[in-house]
Amino acid sequence: MNSNVMPTYNRKPVTFVRGDGVYLYDDKGNKYLDALCGLAVTSLGHSHPIISKIIKDQSQTLLHTSNAFIIEHQELLAKRLCQLTGMDNAFFCNSGAESVEAAIKIARKYGHERGYSNPKIVVMSNSFHGRTMGAMSATSNKNSHESFGPIIEGLIRVNFNNIDDIKNAITSNSDIAAVLLEPIQGEGGIISCDISYLQELDRLCKENNILLMADEVQSGFCRTGKWFSYQHFDIIPDVVMVAKALGNGVPVGACLARSEAANILKAGMHGSTFGGNYLSTSVGLTVLDIMRDSQLCMNVKHISNAMKRATDAELKSLNVVSEIRIYGMMIGIELKSNCTELVVKALEKGLVLNVTKEKVIRLLPPLICKEEHILKIVAIIKQLITENYEN
Ligand SMILES: *Cc1c(COP(=O)(O)O)cnc(C)c1O
Repeated sequence: MNSNVMPTYNRKPVTFVRGDGVYLYDDKGNKYLDALCGLAVTSLGHSHPIISKIIKDQSQTLLHTSNAFIIEHQELLAKRLCQLTGMDNAFFCNSGAESVEAAIKIARKYGHERGYSNPKIVVMSNSFHGRTMGAMSATSNKNSHESFGPIIEGLIRVNFNNIDDIKNAITSNSDIAAVLLEPIQGEGGIISCDISYLQELDRLCKENNILLMADEVQSGFCRTGKWFSYQHFDIIPDVVMVAKALGNGVPVGACLARSEAANILKAGMHGSTFGGNYLSTSVGLTVLDIMRDSQLCMNVKHISNAMKRATDAELKSLNVVSEIRIYGMMIGIELKSNCTELVVKALEKGLVLNVTKEKVIRLLPPLICKEEHILKIVAIIKQLITENYEN
């Protein structure tokens, strides 16, 4: 097909026209179980009636005024997000990458206030933080750095989950303003750091006046069985980035900060035209209400256990499966060989999934899934693996 859309995506040959709960429907009437959620976005399922209603109602009341005026929903959503994260305030934007950009600006200005002329941010191997210039620079991707360089200055790259690397970085640089990481890496293949690592990192940051900044864009909002993944590690970062599931499909993001980090950006220092408008913040509030009222994290723990049992029983013993990593509803099934072809083959069987890092089947199922959906997902994956790889 001759498309006028810039070819920045490798698109699968399917056109979805409708979604309902955990299911998607294409233009030919085929039904699919959605084990991807538009990349950890539609955690509450498609066409959620309460979310549809707030979108309709808000659109008939007020959509947008600009941040030149007080926006009540934004105040309320900020309060709720702060209660949930332990942060003190929020900057609203429209995407994950933008929330990372805000965090980078906070880190740099914090560094300048400490008198560092060239403040550094420590970033991790195997990380992903988005596609804008700063976020792309912080992301560990040699190809995009080569294609779009020069990347931003002042980044120190260390190995994820390696505490000695951090210690060395701190010893050899006296101007580190922040450490940025995903406690559980998503695009990187669903890889968690160790509890001891993040706790020690937190301690080192406090000792050296370094901001600890957690990118929760993928892992936030009950995805791992807690509101935010860092809560599994018993630490509280200084800056938290969120987006994806907060709007269940309506673009909204936020960069949250506490204590000193919350007092860095002052009037005129950062902004966004759309950020935190009436539509996105009223939807965000509704999403948080639904997640709280339905005790969504409890369901995630339940279906995550079901996933563990099912993958243990059906997939673990397959020769081509090298490792299965499950954190709530962030699931990585690593194979010994390249399996990118499985995305299209899964679609043919009515399942939407993703492959990352070429060898990792990544599942981000809706958090409203029931055990029966989990069993169905695992059954189809077992078929896919046994039909396509030697065992
Ligand atoms: C998706 C993602 C981002 C980027 O979010 P966008 O909304 O695509 O800009 C940043 N960080 C993490 C961890 C992500 O998974």
